[in-house]
Amino acid sequence: MLATPEMSTYDEVNLFFDTAADRLGLNNGLREMLKRPWRELQVQIPVRMDDGQVKVFSGFRVHNGARGPYKGGLRYHSDADLEEVRALASLMTWKNVLMDLPYSGAKGGVQVDPWQLSMGELNRPTRRYTQNIIHLIAPNRDIPAPDMGTNAQTMAWMMDAYGQVNGHSPAIVTGKPVEKGGSLGRESSTGRGVSYLLQEAAKDMDMDLQGARVVVQGFGNVGSWSARLIQQLGCRVIGVSGVDGGVYNAGGLDIARLQDYQKMTGGVTGFTGGEAISNRELLELECEVLVPAAVDNVITTDNVDYIKARLVLEAANHPITPEVDRILSEGGVTILPDILVNAEGVIVSYFEWTQNIQEFHWEEGRVNEKLRKVLLRAYQEVRMRAMNEQITHREASFEIGVQRVARSVELRGFL
Ligand code: GLU
Repeated sequence: MLATPEMSTYDEVNLFFDTAADRLGLNNGLREMLKRPWRELQVQIPVRMDDGQVKVFSGFRVHNGARGPYKGGLRYHSDADLEEVRALASLMTWKNVLMDLPYSGAKGGVQVDPWQLSMGELNRPTRRYTQNIIHLIAPNRDIPAPDMGTNAQTMAWMMDAYGQVNGHSPAIVTGKPVEKGGSLGRESSTGRGVSYLLQEAAKDMDMDLQGARVVVQGFGNVGSWSARLIQQLGCRVIGVSGVDGGVYNAGGLDIARLQDYQKMTGGVTGFTGGEAISNRELLELECEVLVPAAVDNVITTDNVDYIKARLVLEAANHPITPEVDRILSEGGVTILPDILVNAEGVIVSYFEWTQNIQEFHWEEGRVNEKLRKVLLRAYQEVRMRAMNEQITHREASFEIGVQRVARSVELRGFL
């Protein structure tokens, strides 16, 4: 199948899957089985709002894969729908398995704009959603975690709602507040992983990081931590964008100050340490490294010609379409794909889950050291495969993932 502009994100993820399945010579039965979701649940979430009105939101949870309990985040977003959640569940499958974690893939979504709701209006649908999917989740069945629009507080509410029925169960969700059994290092983990991978890739590409120009698109948890930790490597983070616009400083932005500014004002606009630029201008900045860390499909065939980076680190899920992936790769840009670059969240989720099961706490140094090991082992596997087979890092990542899940299906003997 060829990429077309009408394709949904789910079709696009499947295109990456198909390329891997073709190269691996996967038989049709196995291919169908791995490509389609194993299970999809759609629920309604009636909620009494603060003004007394009742609103009904839609919620989803999708399961995929064959390697262990389902694992993946829960997203609150006004565009969340079954098709998107399906695509993200599929990405989680390949991400978990690429990291060699003992998990299958999952994703959840609630179609709601969390930024418009009060704390009570967020707490109530979270509890109702948890009740509605409670028969599908358990520490050895499906373990949700935060994703876009949700956070540690959301997880604490989910754990409480689950615990009201099943008793105290910290291992039911990950990404919890540290006081409720969360792991040290979880919040900063994604940015930390991006900086580890940047160091490795720079070595392999002979790129000097001292003064290297980096652009980070998105300044949420992932983007802001990535920018901060990348700056600590000696790079110049020259451009950053948040939901409200972008800022640029050719000499490098002061990211710690920008983080404080965002905390105070809710955005990056008006920051005096740089000049304002649009999101489009930001993506087109001359730089060595581009880190898309916001929503999906931000680089499209409309703006791909203006991308000037040598290295793209996909901290967001599915930030570029397959067509863009092809154009950039053929143009000599190295792209480290989402299922490698943003796997750190789920790696530390895995550490949190094991700590919860053992009723034990690790120190942050141990978390970071183990994170680095798991991530860099995966990176080396991807790199070797890409080199040996003369394929892109994304193709290599999907091949490794698909091969492992196929093997797991075989070993379990359920075909
Ligand atoms: N939502 C994150 C992701 O997309 C984390 C998932 C998890 O920790 O289970 O990778």
